[in-house]
Amino acid sequence: MQCYNHDDQNAVGLCKACGKGLCHDCAADLGHGLACKGVHEDKVTSLNQITTKSAEIYNAAPKNALIAPLFVLAMGAIFIGSGFYYGIGRSTLSTTMGVLFAVYGLVMLVRNRALYGKDRS
Ligand SMILES: [Zn+2]
Ligand SMILES: [Zn+2]
Repeated sequence: MQCYNHDDQNAVGLCKACGKGLCHDCAADLGHGLACKGVHEDKVTSLNQITTKSAEIYNAAPKNALIAPLFVLAMGAIFIGSGFYYGIGRSTLSTTMGVLFAVYGLVMLVRNRALYGKDRS
């Protein structure tokens, strides 16, 4: 493949913004891709920023997936705790709620961990 601007030069890569072939003289290496020097540098820089941001969001997702189950488990612990505090016989509802929350939290935790493992492999 030849450079878009220089027929006698071999292209070293493609501009990330317009996809044209670029030789060493025409290419601006922006770390995560090439850009037409002086033409698409700004555009490719912002494209790279978007890519980096979405990668950060993706990496943060598994951690967020663990927060919800832990919150539900904490709710369960509070309900069970208050159930014991007031006496099981007198606050069966609270204890039942606590057990339901705890089971739901555990199921969410196991399911989210399975998803997390699948993403990783
Ligand atoms: Zn370009
Ligand atoms: Zn060139």
